[in-house]
Amino acid sequence: MHYSALSLVKHALTGNRGWTRAWRNPEPKKRYDVIIIGGGGHGLATAYYLARLHGITNVAVLEKGYIGGGNTGRNTTIVRSNYMLNANSQFYEHSMKLWEGLSRELNYNVMFSQRGIINLFHNDPQRDAFARRGNAMRLNGVDAVMHDLDGVRKLLPHLDFSKNTRFPVTGGLAQPRGGTARHDAVAWGYARGADRLGVDIIQRCEVTGIKRDGDKVLGVETSRGFIGAGQVGVAVAGNTSRVFDMVGMKLPIESHVLQAYVTEAIKPLVDTVCTFGAGHFYISQSDKGGLVFGGDLDGYNTYAQRGNLPTFNHVVAGGVTMMPCLARLRILRQWGGVVDMSMDGTPIISKTSIDNLYINGGWCYGGFKATPGSGWVFAHTIAHDKAHKLNRDFKLERFREGSLIDEKGAGAIPNAH
Ligand SMILES: Cc1cc2nc3c(=O)[nH]c(=O)nc-3n(C[C@H](O)[C@H](O)[C@H](O)COP(=O)(O)OP(=O)(O)OC[C@H]3O[C@@H](n4cnc5c(N)ncnc54)[C@H](O)[C@@H]3O)c2cc1C
Repeated sequence: MHYSALSLVKHALTGNRGWTRAWRNPEPKKRYDVIIIGGGGHGLATAYYLARLHGITNVAVLEKGYIGGGNTGRNTTIVRSNYMLNANSQFYEHSMKLWEGLSRELNYNVMFSQRGIINLFHNDPQRDAFARRGNAMRLNGVDAVMHDLDGVRKLLPHLDFSKNTRFPVTGGLAQPRGGTARHDAVAWGYARGADRLGVDIIQRCEVTGIKRDGDKVLGVETSRGFIGAGQVGVAVAGNTSRVFDMVGMKLPIESHVLQAYVTEAIKPLVDTVCTFGAGHFYISQSDKGGLVFGGDLDGYNTYAQRGNLPTFNHVVAGGVTMMPCLARLRILRQWGGVVDMSMDGTPIISKTSIDNLYINGGWCYGGFKATPGSGWVFAHTIAHDKAHKLNRDFKLERFREGSLIDEKGAGAIPNAH
């Protein structure tokens, strides 16, 4: 709906009573052609593309809390496609292209800001590894720029460039088309788009069991009763192992908490995304002025969405090493999300050994940037019961076959997020 400035004032003065819902609040039907478990960005994008591109509209997204309340609303919003291995590079670049048209596609401003991303390096071997990755990116048609020390100084004048620091900066590999997006808006935009195409988005509906007849899924048990389904797609991020436990399937995934932090708002200081792999730290500045930053995982398995102080100390120490002026800022908020770490750092978007049950998970530190691409290929996989060529290597069997996609620095370590 379009609101004029005058009507916005009127709504504000009358307690916003005239505002209509952006998406419906339907009661679950008895049966759907497709059920997507998980109302994060990936689940909502999948439902949107099922309806928009494949004409499958008898679809429900079941969310145990509220949409976007999982990692979609907890991440640090970095978007990039700076991968080296072909499977990753092509998938994430496809996602990047979808990001570039997403606000228009959804008619919803997802505030995609291509302010660039730079990964700092500190020594010659690291520079060579980054040059190799940058060259591979360019061969795959992805933008990549190597910066020497002067180049980094121009981009980020507030870093500590002294030679006697623990990890002296010597340059960086940048992707100018990388950047950030507004995470909630991505969930809301896909939700509104999917709803308008007929998808039922059902919040406060927890899946508690998966009903099967042999190797075929019949539907899901939920906190609101049984709902039948022709096909079931699971996109629950940190809870992937828990949901697959319902069908007795053990996954090559570990769940860990990942923390993030935001400082008080200040004038523009950092106008690109910067990662400091040596100190396990990365940072960007939100449009409100807060510095948003994070680092490494808390090093134990958990489903608790909160972090622990030693990790916070470690992350902040990395940040102050990289940019000493950060020490003068107050931290406003800290939060945590449960991430599902796959054993090679690469996601799983795949059919499973159970007919009509599909998995989308293993996003490690970095699934937000994949949201459009992940929904796009997962919808294709469900609609055709077959992987798209962009996700055929992200199959579950790769862990049994040994065909891992292990990108080390770019995939799983906070080189980038
Ligand atoms: C602190 C932090 C920082 C991050 N930073 C970045 C970053 O900068 N860039 C980046 O690309 N990625 C980042 N990530 C990773 C990214 O947030 C995730 O990979 C991505 O958001 C996953 O989206 P999703 O839709 O799969 O999961 P989610 O948004 O978590 O959605 C899954 C949903 O499933 C629901 N659910 C779970 N179990 C059930 C059930 N049984 N029944 C019904 N619903 C269920 C949950 O409530 C949840 O809403 C970060 C993650 C964290 C925690």
